[in-house]
Amino acid sequence: MPICAKCNNDVKKVYDCDHTDYEEYCVECYTELHYYMTESENDAN
Ligand SMILES: [Zn+2]
Ligand SMILES: [Zn+2]
Repeated sequence: MPICAKCNNDVKKVYDCDHTDYEEYCVECYTELHYYMTESENDAN
């Protein structure tokens, strides 16, 4: 099973993108990362 690079949990599926520096994150960490990213983008606008 893959391991999330952020919370180190064993998970069934991991996600990566340029925002995670192509490290594999579980869905919770991945969603949380993009959630805060969207929040800060809204602040900037
Ligand atoms: Zn995680
Ligand atoms: Zn992303």
